[in-house]
Parts: sequence; C-alpha cells; structure tokens
Amino acid sequence: MEFSGISAKSLCQIIDLLDPCMDDYLYLYDYKNDYYYISPDAAKRFLLPSNQFTDVFTAFAQFVYPNDLEELKTDLNETFSGKKHFHNMQYRWITTDGRPVWINCRGFIMRDENGSDYLVGCINEIGVSQKADNVSGLLGVSNLQNWLEEYNYILPDGYFLRLGLDDFKEINEKNGLEYGDFVLKKTADIISSFLLPNQKLYKVVADEYLIVDLNGGNAVDAHAQYSKIRCALDDFVAESYYNAMFTISAGVLECKNVEKCTYSNIMKITEFALNEAKRQGKNRSYYFQSSDYDTYLRKKKLTQLLRQAVKDNCVGFEAYLQPLFHCVTNSIYGAESLLRFHTEEFGMVSPGEFIPILEETGLIIPVGRWMLHRSLAIAHEFQQVKPDFKISVNISYIQIMKSNIISEIIYAINTHQMDPSNVIIELTESGQLESDTRFTKLWSKLKDQGVQLALDDFGTGYSNFHYLNDLKPDIIKIDRSFTLKALQNDYEYNLLALMSGMVHKLDLKVCIEGIEYETELAKMRQLFPDYCQGYYFGKPMAVEQFRQNFIDL
Ligand code: C2E
Ligand code: CA
Ligand code: CA
Repeated sequence: MEFSGISAKSLCQIIDLLDPCMDDYLYLYDYKNDYYYISPDAAKRFLLPSNQFTDVFTAFAQFVYPNDLEELKTDLNETFSGKKHFHNMQYRWITTDGRPVWINCRGFIMRDENGSDYLVGCINEIGVSQKADNVSGLLGVSNLQNWLEEYNYILPDGYFLRLGLDDFKEINEKNGLEYGDFVLKKTADIISSFLLPNQKLYKVVADEYLIVDLNGGNAVDAHAQYSKIRCALDDFVAESYYNAMFTISAGVLECKNVEKCTYSNIMKITEFALNEAKRQGKNRSYYFQSSDYDTYLRKKKLTQLLRQAVKDNCVGFEAYLQPLFHCVTNSIYGAESLLRFHTEEFGMVSPGEFIPILEETGLIIPVGRWMLHRSLAIAHEFQQVKPDFKISVNISYIQIMKSNIISEIIYAINTHQMDPSNVIIELTESGQLESDTRFTKLWSKLKDQGVQLALDDFGTGYSNFHYLNDLKPDIIKIDRSFTLKALQNDYEYNLLALMSGMVHKLDLKVCIEGIEYETELAKMRQLFPDYCQGYYFGKPMAVEQFRQNFIDL
C-alpha cells in the first residue's frame, strides 16, 4: 500500500491530534530508520522510554513482557520481509507500575514516495473493562466514572439503585446459557422501561445493573422504582410458565449518604447494599445506612485479625474458666472453659461476636483444637491438687461436620494424660447432627472411651426428647434464657420441673445455667438439679484467678 501523499511526519501529527479522543493507541514504525512513534498516552501507561524512540528492538526489551519478545521479533520480521501482509498479534506490555497487560496489536505496511516501509496500526488493551454489553445493550459501568468526573465528584440529590438477579447461576445451569442470555436481555429491557427521564442505566456485571438518578429522587422513589421492576419481572416469569423461576434484589443508596463520591467508593457501597438485600433473604430491597456499613467493616477487620491470630499460633486467644457447682456435694465439680479474644485495636471481643465469624470462616477448626489442648492442659495441672477436677469444653457443629474432631479429642486426652471421665464435651443441639448416623457412630466411639457428653442450650432450640435417645448425652444443660423465664413465670417453672423430671427418669444429669443470686439457687434447688452454673458461683475468669479462688485453697 502506498502513502497517498501523507508524509510520516504528518501521520505523527495525526496520531497526536487523535490521542485525546481515543482509548486505543495509534503507532507508526519506520523500519529503515529504526524509529517508532506512538500516541503520547501510551508512554504514560507503559514502560516506554518516550512516545518516540530509535533503536526499536532494544527499547522493546524494556516494555515487552520477556516471554513474548522473541515471538514479536519473528512476527515483525516476517511482516517487513513480505512473508505476512498483516501484523496481528496478542502479547503483553509492561505498565509503568510493572504489571504485564495483554494488548492487541494490529498493523499493516505502508510505503512512502521514497520507498521507505512503515508499519502503521493500532494497539488496544484486551483486559480493559467492557464499555458496553451486547447482550443487554447497555453501557458498561466504567462509563459512570466519566459522568462522575463531569460533576467534579460533588453529587446533587438523587440515588443509586443497584439491582441484581438472585441466583442467576442456577438459571444458566438449569436452562442453559442461551436462556440465561435471554433472561439478561429481558431484565435489561424491563429495567430500561422503568427509567425516568435523565436517569442513567449501566450494566455492572452480567446479572447486575445500576440506575443512577442525579435529578433529586429520594429513597421512596428508588423503592417505588424497584417495586415496579420486580412486579414486571414476576409477570415475565409467570408469562413464560415458570420456565425459569428467578427474582431480583436491590440496594438503594441516597447521594446524601455518600461521604466519598469517587467511582470506586460508590461501587463498593452499592455492592454492599445489594449484598445486604440478598443476605436478608433476596427478592427485596435494602436501604444503605452507614451504621450497617460500619458493622460490616468491623466484621471484615475482625475476620482479618482472627485469621492473623490463628497464623500466629493463636496469640490473642485465651481460655477463661467458669466454675461448675455440684449440687449434691455442695462443692466445685470443675469448670467450663470459655473462649476469649482480645486485640490491641478492639480490646476484649465478646464470643457472641467472634465465634460466629470463626464458624463462618472455618477458623473454629484450628482455634477449637487450640482451645481443646489448652483446656486439657489447664485441667491436668489443676488435677495435681484436685484429682477429680472436671473440664468442660465447647465444640462447634462446624468442627464436627468438617474436621476429625472425635479422633482429635481422643488424641488430646492422651497427650495431656487425662482420665476421659474427667472430660466433658459440650455440644449444642442443632436438629441435624442428632439424626446423622455417621455422626452418632463416631460419637459412640468417644462415649465408649468414657468421655462425658453435655447437650448445651437445652430449652432454646429444638429440645426434642428423641434426640436424647439418639445421642445419649450424660448431662443436659438448661440454657440461661430458660432459667430466666422459669424464675419469672410459674408456667415456665413447671415446664422446667417436668423436663428435669423426665431427664432424671432417663437417668441423665441436669445442669441449670445462669444462676445469679442466692434466692434463684434456692428456687432451683427444689428441682433437684445435679449441677448449677452462673455468676452466683463465679463469672468466667482468667486461669490464675480461678486457681486462686477454687484450686489453691
Ligand atoms: P455457653 O456455652 O452457653 O456458655 C455460657 C455463657 O453464659 C457464657 O457466655 C457465660 O459467661 C454466660 N453465663 C454464665 N453464667 C451466667 C450468668 O449467671 N449470667 C449471665 N448473664 N451470663 C452467664 P460467654 O462466655 O460470653 O460465651 C457465649 C457463648 O459462646 C457460649 O455459650 C458458647 O456457645 C460460645 N463459646 C464460648 N467459648 C466457646 C468455645 O471455646 N468454643 C465454642 N464452640 N463456643 C464457645
Ligand atoms: Ca457451653
Ligand atoms: Ca450453655
């Protein structure tokens, strides 16, 4: 191909001229003079010596990903030697911050009036977020960034409504990708049809959309808009005879609640709002409140700290002990070992807050193991003074389902030279474990060793007497909430009396938790509990304190 009267110099001028209006980079490579010219923006993004340079192959070595360099040289040589008519290659360039980025480089040879060869073409980044989506026909959310820039990051009144299909993956799995695309297109059409004048709609990811209203709309308007979209989608599902059943959730963020109006912050908090709607049960909207977000951030931070603590051999965790009182001998029977966690940043964190996180993340497995060993080590020491001292350790449902907890307990008992009958394992009834035969088999292995089993939180959840037969626990622990009700209400008191009578008939022991005052103990004693526990006998306390109060008398 010949240059039609355009010199290399004017071509470089055209490149400069178009640069501000393009995301792609235009280039010219003069083979004879070993000279390269590219859109100035490319030199800001990649490790180029400048946007024009000589000694081209030496310069390539600086910003082309080393593994791709040979292939590039071969391709260019073939292009200039006429073996190939078109240079079309995907390879990597290194950005100014040192990351390799995939680029698509295309070009063809032009010859000017002096007979010199030039490669002229265009480079674009492959991984750049999609600017528009051909399935939904919507703009990609990265376009929002430009729009925010127009407002100079100061938002007028309005709202962001982030919509997301619930369980979209399932539609793809059950109905196939094609039907999935059809649903996405239909959803985008429905959302579009409820857009108000001057609102903008973007696609965030495949099944998420963002409506931006900077026209003074408020939360009520946003919820109303969501309801209309939801109803229209319900109609669509019904009209297609429930071919695919799906719903949509939404997170609503009012502009006045945005503290930092940057694109990334808005994306972060609208994502949080949508996730919250889904977490609360899906097919609903959630209104963003910064206090919820703070709670979420605290949980995220706490999760990090817990994970780090586990990496650091459980530093920050501690076993506290609460006395278990023997009502027949009127003496201390042993202690329940209760987990504590403290960090510099948060101080002492309550188990009510961190145990659910340990369970969700699976960290309860290593921490529970640590707690088991720590508790048995303490008990072993106390037994030098009180040989029959019992130690009661809590085990979570997750440890049972997802680790070899039974062999771990046996291993810990052997390691700490404990008599198994001095070890109590507390387990919360869940309504699931009790009927899992795989678990009951393992469990009976532990009972055969002589370990005692306590069923915790009795009276709060399922409290099914059949479970007692399946699990055959040794002790039933009456939860503090049940104790409280029984102390305040005759009906509940009689219910507790009946229950403990039945438990005794089955030849099991009863432990009443949450006794705080002497009068409460007196009233509960009439039910003949075997053991009691509560602040009246002692709050959970550090090991040294417990030793002073109950061991070294
Ligand atoms: P839980 O196993 O039912 O433990 C008894 C809880 O009741 C303890 O709370 C204890 O401090 C509290 N308590 C005992 N007596 C009284 C009383 O008279 N009045 C009042 N107001 N409270 C009393 P804590 O230590 O905050 O533990 C809460 C829960 O965290 C435990 O309930 C247990 O479910 C869980 N947990 C604690 N440590 C562990 C552990 O090592 N592993 C597992 N899996 N869970 C644990
Ligand atoms: Ca317990
Ligand atoms: Ca309990």
